[in-house]
Amino acid sequence: MGVHECHIAHMASRDRFEIVLTCKKCGFSGTAKVSENDYPFMRHPGFEIDEFPEGMSLAKYANHRKETMIKCFCGEIFHA
Ligand SMILES: [Zn+2]
Repeated sequence: MGVHECHIAHMASRDRFEIVLTCKKCGFSGTAKVSENDYPFMRHPGFEIDEFPEGMSLAKYANHRKETMIKCFCGEIFHA
């Protein structure tokens, strides 16, 4: 049982959810579809934004959501 669980843990089990991105400068907001590995305490959660709301794009990729930077069409760059 333990070995089996360990094997599954190495498979890419992705947790998918949506977050609302809001630009503090112009007030524009939209919903992004994101995913990360399904282990809340991992050092490398592999956070990724799979789908951006229109008008927003990736400014800086990071493994963690709190370090990921989003760029708004108005030029503002902010944390995801
Ligand atoms: Zn903006």
